[in-house]
Amino acid sequence: MNKRILVTGGAGFIGSYLCEKLINKGNYVICCDNFYTGNKDNLVNILNDKNFELIRHDITFPIYLEVDEIFNFACPASPVHYQNDPVQTIKTCVHGAINMLGLAKRTKAKIIQASTSEIYGDPEIHPQTEQYKGAVSINGPRACYDEGKRCAETLFWDYKRQHDVNVKVVRIFNTYGPRMQKNDGRVVSNFIIQALTNKNITVYGDGKQTRSFCYVDDLVDGILLTMEKKDFPGPVNLGNPVEISIMQLAEEITEMVGSKSKIINKELPIDDPKQRCPDIELAKKTLGWNPKFQRKDGLKKTIEYFDKLLEEEK
Ligand code: UDP
Repeated sequence: MNKRILVTGGAGFIGSYLCEKLINKGNYVICCDNFYTGNKDNLVNILNDKNFELIRHDITFPIYLEVDEIFNFACPASPVHYQNDPVQTIKTCVHGAINMLGLAKRTKAKIIQASTSEIYGDPEIHPQTEQYKGAVSINGPRACYDEGKRCAETLFWDYKRQHDVNVKVVRIFNTYGPRMQKNDGRVVSNFIIQALTNKNITVYGDGKQTRSFCYVDDLVDGILLTMEKKDFPGPVNLGNPVEISIMQLAEEITEMVGSKSKIINKELPIDDPKQRCPDIELAKKTLGWNPKFQRKDGLKKTIEYFDKLLEEEK
């Protein structure tokens, strides 16, 4: 049977792919976004679909809808954006979770939370398993997001225990692909745009810090599998476990673009995690999920996307 599904943050990078895939599976999708970082352009493929509805709404305020499932994906997620208005970031995480969990409780909807590898902070164990409790700064510049997302997870488990809400939590690691924002300050978008415009590639710190990058298609498949899997609340890590240093990434992107850019070093932001790599054994075992995209293939698609975007802006 077709479901009526709410996607908060549905005009965002990941949310828009979710809306699209859910519609393609025959569902009716209500997308709710305050357009703080979301963008209508991300929805061009579905905007006129009869099974799609777009609402401008900020989830820090309650909303009354009748739904079968909720994907709670509203929140600025790049460090530049979530640090721009830290109080609003916490409100989105915490008040947003309370409002969406309240909606799930009333409608008996299944609800999935977009959690994050940031809940592990600057991790002391490597790779990070779901059991790891994290090393998070309470009051640093990333805390609004890290602690906000941690509190949201706590709320999810408490609504499950106290009100028997059917909750699920995915912990999303660094994700990239077309529809990333040009100005979100993230490493993949920054490096690609810098390379395409032959500007200096800005490596923060010595570039020895690592990340593991998952292509958006793989990630969205993992989220949908988690939502469908019966009796599996998670939390589950979703990410690509192939790790790379930021300096290597800078070199790789410069080479792929064939750019004349020079790599330069800039100051490392406060509390920037030194290493990040997901342990995805749980997702593999329970969901049969394993990212398919090699980094080179995903980067190629992302470079093409930004190249076209820059071309259109000329
Ligand atoms: N970074 C960088 N240059 C940039 C943007 C980011 O060297 O122009 C680094 C950043 O300091 C971090 C890593 O790349 O170590 C990933 O940053 P991003 O903001 O993409 O996400 P994070 O994983 O830190 O949330």
